Amino acid sequence: MTSSFIYLNHAAATPILPRAAAVAADVAGRLYGNPSSTTDFAGRAAGEVAAHARRCCADSLGRRPSEIYFTSGATEANNWVIKGTLWRAARSARRHLITQATEHASVLESAHSLRGDGFDVTILPVNSVGMVDPADVARALRERPDTALVSVMWVNNETGTVQPVAEVAEACRVAGVPFHADATQAYGRVPIGLGPGPAPDLITLSAHKAGGPRGAGLLWVRAGAPGGVPAPLLHGGGQERGARAGTLNLAAIAGMAAAMVDVGRDFEQATARLASLRDRLETRLVEALGAVVVGNRTQRAPHISSLRVPGVPALELLKAAPRVGAAAGAACHAAGIDPSHVLVAMGHGEQSFEVIRLSIGPQTTDAEVDEAAELLLQVVRSLRSVKGLRTPTQP
Ligand code: PMP
Repeated sequence: MTSSFIYLNHAAATPILPRAAAVAADVAGRLYGNPSSTTDFAGRAAGEVAAHARRCCADSLGRRPSEIYFTSGATEANNWVIKGTLWRAARSARRHLITQATEHASVLESAHSLRGDGFDVTILPVNSVGMVDPADVARALRERPDTALVSVMWVNNETGTVQPVAEVAEACRVAGVPFHADATQAYGRVPIGLGPGPAPDLITLSAHKAGGPRGAGLLWVRAGAPGGVPAPLLHGGGQERGARAGTLNLAAIAGMAAAMVDVGRDFEQATARLASLRDRLETRLVEALGAVVVGNRTQRAPHISSLRVPGVPALELLKAAPRVGAAAGAACHAAGIDPSHVLVAMGHGEQSFEVIRLSIGPQTTDAEVDEAAELLLQVVRSLRSVKGLRTPTQP
């Protein structure tokens, strides 16, 4: 049976996995205690669930539970890492942050807010496929005591481009500077090695990007990381070993942990399937419409296809194909339409208005991909004919 909508916006939010939904519902309905209250039986039961969830999340990352800090999502975790690390480092006169131009707004806007408070922020450029050059990171690093943090995302949420994380990690290690990677779009899609080799010291994750519920995420901090645990963003009741105050969103956290167990289970098979579905969809649109792949074709997460459809504004295309749920490389605001900062950083200018993002997940089927491609083909052809445009010929 074909449903009337084809959801190709998994980079925005993924459908919750069945076991994650069941666990979250069970915890929400049954475990009413406060997980940090150890004086009553209900609090202790809730605390055990939180401890179990922490172990599951840590196991999924191949790390220790004591290195996990729960948050409300990746936006909070990214704000916490960027601001909390710089605030703490400022006490020892380190006031320099390095990041790069295609980060998520939660990193970039945190960086801008620090700049407004007198911190020194370097935002490195990317090349035409969205990659930062590790040599630029190495050149920008001011060895102790000045650079306090480097933050470079693992996978970009608009293009799927994978950043050279190991090389950036190595440059940071040599300089003794902590390295944070926003791994929100990487988790469950590309291998995340956090072992002793070159790897980040801190990563941030969001549950709802990988089969978990909305409203939960985490920060992982390597034991002994050069900058330590970031200074708290939220002060209050001493939860999360004093690092992040506030009663835990236990149902969402338990659901996230269940999703992380399941996502880790058949990682290789699942990611290979995503890549083949993505290629099937992309090849059809490239061949039939002269669509152009945006981002790094060889170092790319398997769930995202960012495509420029020459001559067709993405917002018009998505409006004319309402059965296909996808995203555009431009966002409408009260003041008009803004191009995506990611595409602008990659040098796209006006062409960013022609970029659509199709993102798939484990629930996406071959039939859905084929049907979405046919719907988009029909709509593009009719929009082009209204505008008197021809399909560009393949180079
Ligand atoms: N970082 C990246 C790369 C993302 O894609 C997102 C979600 N769009 C976030 C951070 C923010 O995550 P959350 O929705 O959990 O706040």
